[in-house]
Parts: sequence; structure tokens; C-alpha cells
Amino acid sequence: MTKALLNIDYTIDFVTGALPCGQPAIDIEKEIAAITAKFIEEGAFTVFAIDLHFPDDPYHPETALYPPHNLKDTEGRLLYGELSKVYQFHADKENVFWMDKTRYSAFAGTDLELKLRERGITEVHLVGVCTDICVLHTAVDAYNKGFNIVVYENATASFNEIGHRWALEHFKNSMNAKVI
Ligand code: ZN
Repeated sequence: MTKALLNIDYTIDFVTGALPCGQPAIDIEKEIAAITAKFIEEGAFTVFAIDLHFPDDPYHPETALYPPHNLKDTEGRLLYGELSKVYQFHADKENVFWMDKTRYSAFAGTDLELKLRERGITEVHLVGVCTDICVLHTAVDAYNKGFNIVVYENATASFNEIGHRWALEHFKNSMNAKVI
């Protein structure tokens, strides 16, 4: 079994900025940074799958749903807190991969699946926000593509506590994911 870490959307906009998860996301700062540093230092493939938007994009479905967030070249799109330091310290390592995504799922319209298959990866570990939106959609695609899934309860968060709890149960009960 070869594993990869998918680090999803832990940016300033999604933690405290334009579309914030708020306190639950602030509370996972240390844990998400620690898990990410460990994966990188162990040599595991570590992906930063980060939402990317352009101002007033008339074709994007999220334009009608949310205020503008994670706009290209804005501070809101930077990683939040300690995770930002972990990324900057390790950014030039061969196993660290920054990947723009434009939909909830890290697999939608990206070459993530190719990157994982090339490396023989069979198990994806998920951290980030929001548990019940981008983490969920990424997990659904990973499940359908046959990857084993591990989700870190203390390194995922949502603005919606009920949604967070529901998604964790869904990972376990419907995707046979390990929730640890
Ligand atoms: Zn978005």
C-alpha cells in the first residue's frame, strides 16, 4: 500500500476570510500542520489541492452560491497559519505538489488521478475543509476510482457541525473509510 496526503482548501478565505468555516477550522491548525509535515518528511506524496477562482466568472456554478473566495493572486488564497509555514519550508521538495482545482472535488478537471496512479498510490489520506463539501466530494471521487480512504477527524472541519458529523459517518459507513 502506498499512501498520499490530499490537503484540501485550508486557506485564509476558508478559515477566517471570505467564506469562512470559522472556529472549527481555526481549531485544527496545529493538527493539519503536524500531519502534513509528517507526510512530507516521510517522503509520501503530498498534494495541496487548492480552490482557484476568477472574479465574477459568469460560467462558474459557485458564482451564484457564494461570495467571491480564493480569487487568483489574493491573500485569501494563501494557506492559513502554521500550514503555510510547513508548505513554504517544503515547497521545493519532489514529493510536494501544489494543485489548483476549480470545483469541490480535487479530481474534477485536474490530473490528480494520473499523479496518484503514476506513483502507485492506492490509499488517500484526507485533511482540510470543509468536511461536508470539498473533502466530501473528493472522497466520493476517490471511492469511485477505487482508492482506499483515510480521514482525519481532528484535521477536518466545517462551518456546519451537523454536516461535519454526518460526513464523517458517511465516510465510514458508505465508503469504508478509516476515520481516525
Ligand atoms: Zn470555491
